[in-house]
Amino acid sequence: MAERHIELEIVDRPSAKDMSQCVHCGFCLQECPTYLQLGLETDSPRGRIHLLQAVTEGRAEPTPSLVSHLDLCLQCRACETACPSGVPFGRIMESGRAMLVQSGRVPLAWRLRVWLLRQLFPYPKRLRLLFSLLRLYQRSGLRWLLRTSRLLRILPGGLAEAESMLPEVPSRAYEPPAEPSTGAAAARRVALLTGCVMPLLYPRTHEATVRVLDRHGLQVVAPPEQGCCGALNLHAGDRRTARELARRNIDAFLSAGVEAVVVNSAGCGSTLKEYGELLEQDPEYAEKAQRFSALVRDVTEFLTELPFEPPRGAVRQRVTYQDSCHLVHAQQVRSAPRELLRAIPGLELVELESPDRCCGSAGIYSLAQRDMSLRLLDDKMRDVAATLRAEPTGSADVPVIATANPGCMLQMEAGLRRHGLPGRVVHIVELLDEAYAAEEET
Ligand code: SF4
Ligand code: SF4
Repeated sequence: MAERHIELEIVDRPSAKDMSQCVHCGFCLQECPTYLQLGLETDSPRGRIHLLQAVTEGRAEPTPSLVSHLDLCLQCRACETACPSGVPFGRIMESGRAMLVQSGRVPLAWRLRVWLLRQLFPYPKRLRLLFSLLRLYQRSGLRWLLRTSRLLRILPGGLAEAESMLPEVPSRAYEPPAEPSTGAAAARRVALLTGCVMPLLYPRTHEATVRVLDRHGLQVVAPPEQGCCGALNLHAGDRRTARELARRNIDAFLSAGVEAVVVNSAGCGSTLKEYGELLEQDPEYAEKAQRFSALVRDVTEFLTELPFEPPRGAVRQRVTYQDSCHLVHAQQVRSAPRELLRAIPGLELVELESPDRCCGSAGIYSLAQRDMSLRLLDDKMRDVAATLRAEPTGSADVPVIATANPGCMLQMEAGLRRHGLPGRVVHIVELLDEAYAAEEET
């Protein structure tokens, strides 16, 4: 990424005002996945706010033990939804982590994570190379060799388990069309955020999104200058890299002359909607960032705000919906995905017991906090199995898990494999796309 902007020395720290909004009522505790697993106040939202207050007021040192409680937070923001006092927990945790990273008070593994994210995500070519190597490993027979030789099992760090959770890399990446998706006569024009990993892992989701928007008479463009949204850097505490990426996206999208920036990745969407806050102290970008964020829409909310055209074709499947944390808690979009699913003829929507509890994906949390991530994933898969009665019966009626974020898709796919459950995982727009395609058969 070319350094196009001299980073202002913005010093990040959680705001005392934000933290003082917490009245210690504890309503958030029963919604916090890590508190529910461990039962420890220090791994609850209230406890983490208390720890950050103690550090910022100089009453506590950021010892490795203290920092570990902050690192175990998923940043799922379920506590924000539950909080009657409107505590902006996501903002508190992001700036708290940035404070620790900027002051060098995080362990080596965390520093390494920050460095790796900074070296990879702003650079699409490096990401492409990484995924090409992964694909080569999966297709060349090397994976088969390693698995059958059991070599992975004698390597340290749960490598065999981590390897078994790797996603299958598709043979081709998403390439945005050189021309806008639909006729130049279309009165409405929107931009698609293509993102960093999504084109490499889920090209089918982008293609379905463009077809569904096109079906509604929208001209879809994908500005080539856009890049990664910066969510992973932001969550790791590297707000400086996130700000660089934000400036790049703001320039790319504001010059595209579109009425909306449509996003099919909930984690990216919530980050884009908060660029205004990320750049509020940047005199050059503060206003532009606010203007940009106002254009951002998750694809599900955008479709329901249109005159939405329900499909006439049927998708005769049992579907359950996993709320993506950054859609339901960070963006407060809960009903739009369900409205779209219910609009598909033949589709039976069955709700999970806890659809808005984190699946343990949380960006790179599934790598950085493997044990907790697997505990949450196992709970989620038990919920899925009970809801869909998806015992491994070999039935042809393969159940479907729909969601709205690539991280959740990866995690749920890994969960199905890990639990030997039948099923497929899709983005909601893929089901809509299938229903529109099925119209030709009716
Ligand atoms: S963001 Fe999620 S994991 Fe972190 S404190 Fe809030 S509810 Fe708990
Ligand atoms: S619900 Fe809100 S006010 Fe109550 S303890 Fe949790 S964060 Fe604090």
